[in-house]
Parts: sequence; structure tokens; C-alpha cells
Amino acid sequence: MPTILYEGQDYHCEPGESVLDCLIRQGVSVNYSCKAGACQSCMMVAVEGKPTPASQVGIKETLKAQNHFLICSCVPETDMQVAAPDQAGSRFDTAVLSVDKLSADVVRLRLARPDNYIYLPGQFLNLSNEAGAVRSYSLASVPELDDFLELHIRHVPGGLVSGWVAEKLQAGDTVTISQAAGQCSYLPGRETQPLLLVGTGTGLAPLVGIVRDALRQGHSGPIHLYHGSSTAEGLYLVSELSAMDEANAVFHYHPCVSRGTPPHGVQSGRATDVALADFAQLSGWRVFLCGREDMVKTMQKKSFLAGASIQDIFADPFIDSAGAGAANAV
Ligand SMILES: Cc1cc2nc3c(=O)[nH]c(=O)nc-3n(C[C@H](O)[C@H](O)[C@H](O)COP(=O)(O)OP(=O)(O)OC[C@H]3O[C@@H](n4cnc5c(N)ncnc54)[C@H](O)[C@@H]3O)c2cc1C
Repeated sequence: MPTILYEGQDYHCEPGESVLDCLIRQGVSVNYSCKAGACQSCMMVAVEGKPTPASQVGIKETLKAQNHFLICSCVPETDMQVAAPDQAGSRFDTAVLSVDKLSADVVRLRLARPDNYIYLPGQFLNLSNEAGAVRSYSLASVPELDDFLELHIRHVPGGLVSGWVAEKLQAGDTVTISQAAGQCSYLPGRETQPLLLVGTGTGLAPLVGIVRDALRQGHSGPIHLYHGSSTAEGLYLVSELSAMDEANAVFHYHPCVSRGTPPHGVQSGRATDVALADFAQLSGWRVFLCGREDMVKTMQKKSFLAGASIQDIFADPFIDSAGAGAANAV
């Protein structure tokens, strides 16, 4: 079985075991969060041995060329020597500008945008808490419009990082963030194409960034944003998005609740079902899906079956650490 050399120690892999699982099983403390190749917090460099293709999916070409790979997605075929990537330029300490509530359980965190911090709205960054636990959060801000970074964070009961943000962080504190990553963004071109955006809960954060960016870049095709929650109290930014709908002829905001009687202006049903009832044919559309993993995966399939091209479906499932089986990802 392949052996992993890390920080001068050999670790033997079990059959079919990923590099990450091999290291965790043997008590090594390494960064990880989603364990599904999404959050990129477990990225390492292969000093010897070749990373598998699956472990380099979604990584920037420049990093791929330098043998960076995701240890959660690498079941090694040969012995490897691995090392933590050079952190220079990939981690930023930055100031908390504000922490305020958008709803009973959603917090808006605004951070100072570090110099040379490059990102596209809708990408995500990794935020470390004081104990070094790392979680991914999506960017609702737009670099050309905002001089801060904005995140919407749902306070998960007992959550290591979301609890720390909601209960402890204050304006003036310093936090550590990673570079931005992810493919769920608006790219210019085909500006008359209809856009469908569907999100649940804080899946709204990247979608708000994408809509604002598309409008900023002069997108002229219709833009339909469906935001779903089980109850009306779970919806947030309702008045801001309604005002954007009023102000922009191409933008249409559809808040949806799946339980109880919806208030005026809110549609009844799951956001995915309401969107597909409104638009059964998605041939030629660009689709953005963010939020709960099950919703995103189901809607990905349904959008494809409704005619959207696979290249035109951009998805960011918010895979949580339950999938990772992690008590702490340090
Ligand atoms: C690419 C990506 C982007 C993301 N963007 C956002 C974002 O913009 N906003 C946001 O709020 N979250 C986002 N997430 C989810 C986020 O990274 C964390 O998983 C979440 O905040 C919980 O972390 P925690 O440390 O607070 O909880 P943990 O300490 O990891 O978990 C505590 C307990 O809560 C359970 N749990 C964790 N998450 C959830 C959940 N969502 N619902 C129910 N139970 C849960 C766990 O299973 C565990 O039992 C994103 C995830 C990914 C992969």
C-alpha cells in the first residue's frame, strides 16, 4: 500500500483510503472542512509522486502546475511526499468592520478588503476561527462596488465557526481568511441570455453578488432570482431585493416559503418547484444554484433535464462538516 511522507514521518495508507483519511486516522493535525473536494481547505503540495487527476479538479491552473492537490480527493496510486503549501500570499489577516443580524439566525459579516485581494462575486473564501477551525463562506460583495468583503453566515446551533462569528466576533477584531476560490460567478458575454438563480438560506449570499455583478456589467437578458426558506422569517434582504427589482427592468426577485401561508408578495412552495413551474424550459439559460447540498444537486439534474446545457449550470453546494465527520478541522 502507498506510503505518505509528511513532515519527516511515514504514514501507510489502507486500501482505497485518501491521503486526508490516512493522516487523520494516524492522529495528524491537518486543515480540512468539507472532505468532498469543494472547500479546498485541505490543499497540499506533492513534493514527490503525482497527485491523481480527481484531486486537482477545480484548482487554479497555476497551482495545478505546481503540484497542488486536495488531499481529501486523492487516493494515492504510488508513494508520495506531501507538504503544506506555502502560505505566503494565500492567507490574509483582516479587520472585522461590522457584524449585524439579517434575520434571527443569519449574520452579515463585513471585513476590510485586504490590498490586492482579488475575487469574483459568488466565489467563497475560507475563514479560520481563533482555534484554527476552517469553514467556507461565499462572497456577496462586488469588488468594483464595495470596498469591503461581505459574508452571510447562518448561526448553526453548536457550530464551531458560525457560533464564534455570531457570538464572539466584534468590529475591530482581526480574522484570517484565504484567497477566494470557486467557479460560481457571472462571466461577461452572452449578455442577453436569461439567467435563473435559485438559493436556499444563506445560498442567497453568492447569488446577490452574482446579480449585482451581472447588472453592473450591463446584462440585458432577464434575471430571475428565487430565494427559498421554510418560513417567512427565514427570508432576508427582502426589502433590498424588492427595491432592486423595482429599479431594474431586467431583474425579477421571487421570495418563496415552503410552509404556512406566505405573506403578500411571497410565493408558496419550494424555490426549486416554483422556479420550474414558472420556467419549465431552460434551453439557452444560464443557471446558478447555491445552498443546501440536496437542493443544489436535485436542481442541477432538473435544470439539465429542462434543457440547460451542463456548461451553463453553476452550482455551489454548501457541504457541511457533517459530511466530513469532523469535530474540528484544524
Ligand atoms: C463552498 C461552500 C460555501 C459555503 N458558503 C456558506 C455561506 O455563504 N454561508 C453559510 O452560512 N454557510 C456556508 N457554507 C457552510 C459553512 O462552510 C459551514 O459548514 C457552516 O457554517 C457550519 O460550520 P460550523 O463550524 O458553524 O458548524 P460545525 O461545527 O461544522 O457543525 C456543528 C454541527 O452542526 C451541523 N451542521 C453544520 N452545518 C449545518 C447546516 N448548514 N445545517 C444544519 N446542520 C449543520 C454539523 O453536522 C454539526 O453537527 C459553505 C460551505 C461550502 C462548502
